Amino acid sequence: MSGFVDSIMALVKAKNPAEPEFHQAVEEVVESLGLVIEKHPEYRAAKIVERLVEPERVIMFRVPWLDDQGEVQVNRGFRIEMNSSIGPYKGGLRFHPSVNLGILKFLAFEQVLKNSLTTLPMGGGKGGSDFDPKGKSDNEVMHFCQSFMTELSRHIGQFTDVPAGDIGVGGREIGFMFGQYKRVRNEFVGVLTGKGLAWGGSLIRPEATGYGSVYFGKNMLATRNETYAGKTCLVSGSGNVAQYTIEKLNEFGAKAVTCSDSGGFIYDSEGIDTAKLAYLMELKNVKRGRVSEYAEKYPNAVYTPVDPNLDYNPLWDNKADCAFPSATQNEINAKDAGNLLKNGVYVVSEGANMPTVPEGVNQFIDAKILYGPGKAANAGGVAVSGLEMSQNSLRLSWTREEVDGHLQRIMKDIHDAAFNAAEKYGTPGNYVNGANIAGFLKVADTMLDQGVV
Ligand code: NDP
Repeated sequence: MSGFVDSIMALVKAKNPAEPEFHQAVEEVVESLGLVIEKHPEYRAAKIVERLVEPERVIMFRVPWLDDQGEVQVNRGFRIEMNSSIGPYKGGLRFHPSVNLGILKFLAFEQVLKNSLTTLPMGGGKGGSDFDPKGKSDNEVMHFCQSFMTELSRHIGQFTDVPAGDIGVGGREIGFMFGQYKRVRNEFVGVLTGKGLAWGGSLIRPEATGYGSVYFGKNMLATRNETYAGKTCLVSGSGNVAQYTIEKLNEFGAKAVTCSDSGGFIYDSEGIDTAKLAYLMELKNVKRGRVSEYAEKYPNAVYTPVDPNLDYNPLWDNKADCAFPSATQNEINAKDAGNLLKNGVYVVSEGANMPTVPEGVNQFIDAKILYGPGKAANAGGVAVSGLEMSQNSLRLSWTREEVDGHLQRIMKDIHDAAFNAAEKYGTPGNYVNGANIAGFLKVADTMLDQGVV
């Protein structure tokens, strides 16, 4: 099957030059799909994979706005509408200076398979901007969001494309964008998810990705008759996903000892307990401060700033049982993966998208640890976004318990689908193959049903 992988990769690289993250995401998937394509020549004949790697539509636009000094600023906005075979495009918006076409294509491609795994009817998309909300006033963020949405509103809609948040896009940004959509389109509809509770949001949506990633790890542990009780956990990031990962780990009797931001990480040997997590949430979500301040408030915690001269991240070089990368792509390199294994980590549940480089993934698989790849482990966020869409359509709000119950069931279904597909295609315990194959099959069969479109 290396001929199949090589031909797809040659195509993707020729058509999408200088987009290494997109190449990386596609390569991982097509390597898994070799196992499926052998058994299903009809997918090859219909060029399903060739169509899957080509976005249905790419929108790229200028986002001009005025800063607090009255100066004109210009950013670039994007929306990748990757695949709508099983439902409207669905996927987050990322505001971060590193955003470019290749990063968003990788995220949109992953999103197609992830959304398929959730069992809900959602296609895949992703978007965002190279705008950096860090250090901007609320007014500047609002002006940017309004300009961004003025253009994006022409392309999205409750039945066509429903964006959500991602890095740099939380409740504040969704609020500003929803307000502008409503104003320019004169309609109050569920065109975004992650909305405020008073205006169509769902309970548990903020918690969903972090909780879901912990639930995914719980399901993996259950295959070995184990639980989280007493386990030490490494968490990276300190944003939405990291915060609720820590919250759920505390609830399950585990101890999270680290968190980070782009400046560095803290190690708290006593664990980031409920009171400390409340401080961290206030620090990041309200004060918009840095994790270094955590170590000032709690002197037993050690802060280690990022050292650009190191070829590894010392956060991953601490003794632990579990790891929850929850910051960004490629944050675990090959050396970090080796350090995690050396330090006793045998559960990795990825809250972030593609946080581990391919050499690291291979080390985890070879070591036969419980390794849950992002497209399965972090699907809880988009799953509850799907539930938010359902509630909007019904004009109803479900209780916390109802939504959390759905989330737990969906994470178990995703786990079981990946686990079973891995076994069926001859690689038991390999959740990477399992998630890629289970996610792909539903989309591929639907594309066959719908003809050459
Ligand atoms: P947030 O913006 O809330 O938090 C991101 C965190 O990661 C911050 O602590 C940030 O630090 C850190 N970070 C971001 N980029 C970098 C970088 N290049 N280097 C080092 N640290 C970085 O985002 P989320 O928590 O929502 O997202 C985290 C990850 O989870 C992403 O990979 C996202 O795609 C994924 N994800 C999110 C979902 C969601 O529902 N929100 C759903 C599924 C996946 P700093 O503040 O210094 O930038």
